[in-house]
Amino acid sequence: MKGHFPTDKFSTLATPFYYYDTDLLRRTLAEINAEAGKYNGFTVHYAIKANANPKILNIIRESGMGADCVSGGEIEASIKAGFSPEKIVFAGVGKSDWEINLGLEKDIFCFNVESIAELDVINELAQKAGKTAMVAFRINPDIGAHTHANITTGLAENKFGIAMADMETAIRHSEQLNNVQFKGLHFHIGSQIMDMNDFMALCNRINELQDRLEKSHIWVEHINVGGGLGIDYQHPNRVPIPDFKGYFATYAKHLKLRDGQKLHFELGRSVVGQCGSLITKVLYVKQGTAKQFAIVDAGMTDLIRPALYHAFHKIENISNDGPVGTYDVVGPICESSDVFAKQAEINRCQRGDLIAIRSAGAYGEIMASQYNCRRLPAGYTSEELI
Ligand SMILES: *Cc1c(COP(=O)(O)O)cnc(C)c1O
Repeated sequence: MKGHFPTDKFSTLATPFYYYDTDLLRRTLAEINAEAGKYNGFTVHYAIKANANPKILNIIRESGMGADCVSGGEIEASIKAGFSPEKIVFAGVGKSDWEINLGLEKDIFCFNVESIAELDVINELAQKAGKTAMVAFRINPDIGAHTHANITTGLAENKFGIAMADMETAIRHSEQLNNVQFKGLHFHIGSQIMDMNDFMALCNRINELQDRLEKSHIWVEHINVGGGLGIDYQHPNRVPIPDFKGYFATYAKHLKLRDGQKLHFELGRSVVGQCGSLITKVLYVKQGTAKQFAIVDAGMTDLIRPALYHAFHKIENISNDGPVGTYDVVGPICESSDVFAKQAEINRCQRGDLIAIRSAGAYGEIMASQYNCRRLPAGYTSEELI
């Protein structure tokens, strides 16, 4: 089964470009709202870093989600897209002073603080600005997620967050400071997580930590469990919408929220991953000694995930329904890792065929670079190509 693409509309557009199925995006957002809406106090933020295309951000903002930012630039992008500052959280292991000042100036909902040194700087800058910063501590729960090593973030060896042993010290320290107010605990164990047991392990760890804090009479207003829900890269057509039902139910069942406590989520990949495809054109078909190559006009500069994480993306020839051939689908960049797929089985390619690299809505366009002095890819939505 292949995806549906308006190939006639594509024929006038310069390749490569990103194509976003906004109907699927809207259905995904509706599903998230319906499933999270079943539980009291569940609030979803969209992790801007997955895709900051303004057209995509607008649609997500309209759905009512907040924004999860990891840089000053992302705060600017989310405010420009109309996200209200009281729905913006700001995480990041190395926030610079101008970024903290921007968050203070905009009165964002919360800073997710990753070290005591950072807390002191936020307090100092807030004092200068005559403000009080709302803070949550990002705690490293020392939980491994069953995902690629480069996208696991919750192990003690990772650079993220404050060690569990230092949690009370950080909270007590914040109580000594005049311009910060402790509000919550923040966690994020990694990305592309398909095994609900990983989220369950996080719930159990948070329950332990909450019990500890309760004994010390520390009240936590909100818990933020980050994001990480994966998508089905193998079957973008069969499973276009991730299992949000199971995801939220896992937290509802295993996390013991206290009365009045809010639970925040920061979803990125699962929101936008399946709605995007990278559309590229076959430039040449080359017969190698042992294999044949489909050389396309997109490269790792347009979609770096295969080169960076050996990530799998389903590849479809959307111009041709002829017999299937086996190809290494490669880009034009001067790097041997500039390969989208090895031994991919796709309908036989010829020069000029359009190829869709599926499930590229998350960590695709936003990670594009200009290496080799290439142009950045454009992004079109299905709505604007009608
Ligand atoms: C990247 C990130 C997310 C989103 O992760 P996904 O796997 O895309 O859902 C959420 N929170 C934080 C702090 C992040 O760094």
